[in-house]
Amino acid sequence: MTTSAGTAVGRVRIAGVQKNFGEVTVLKGIDLVIEPGEVTVILGPSGSGKSTLLRTINHLEKLDQGSIDIDGELIGYRQRGQTLHELPEREVLRQRTRIGMVFQNFNLFPHLTVLENIVEAPIAALKQSKAQATARAVELLERVGLADRADAYPRQLSGGQQQRVAIARALALDPKVLLFDEPTSALDPELVTEVLDVIKDLARGGRTMIIVSHEIGFAREVADRIVFMDAGLVIDQGSPEHLFGPDAHPRAKAFLAKVL
Ligand code: ADP
Ligand code: MG
Repeated sequence: MTTSAGTAVGRVRIAGVQKNFGEVTVLKGIDLVIEPGEVTVILGPSGSGKSTLLRTINHLEKLDQGSIDIDGELIGYRQRGQTLHELPEREVLRQRTRIGMVFQNFNLFPHLTVLENIVEAPIAALKQSKAQATARAVELLERVGLADRADAYPRQLSGGQQQRVAIARALALDPKVLLFDEPTSALDPELVTEVLDVIKDLARGGRTMIIVSHEIGFAREVADRIVFMDAGLVIDQGSPEHLFGPDAHPRAKAFLAKVL
């Protein structure tokens, strides 16, 4: 994605990130740079820290060590001298408006219609007018193939439709970076494709996307880069050709052999 001035935005820099839960270190020093517009798929066994890493990017998890910045702006912290101080909650909320997240279980507001789900944040956080937010929401619903369901409630939709609404909702804030945490894991198999097709369509749009997924065929097709994590570390990363090729790290190969 580029700004009106033509500068590419959405560079995510993860430097030396560590995260502990109690005595357990679940991220053991993650270094990654994701370039503007790059589509990165994170693969790895259950419990390897994939969700935790995604959650640190929008400061849903605080870091114990290291830093994350997007286009040079530290997420969740302000640096004074050598020390990082946590930002006040309203600053974190402002940062989150530029980081979209799509969860496994959709997380739509059950008491709001599809349209209301999408316009809520642009109106509340970006101070858009209702007319402006609605016009954009209608466009986004068309993009995800749900123009005719604007007035439905989430419970009246299939899981695949709910996830497509969740994607439209994330896009409504025009985020620099879009994070997906296993967006199809909670879906019945016949509903997976409709959601992956929407994500594939977005992947062509030049927005930075980081996707945790076990859909290997999808990963191979959509990813500019695949990152393989195991036990809180990035074990290997590179193009799909590399990760699925003979030179991949043995642990990545062993994992892929099991899930393919
Ligand atoms: P993945 O998404 O790769 O399956 P997670 O990031 O969810 O892995 O979890 C990594 C490890 O951190 C797991 O051992 C998990 O049990 C632990 N963990 C995750 N969230 C919490 C939490 N809020 N409190 C304690 N442990 C957690
Ligand atoms: Mg997870």
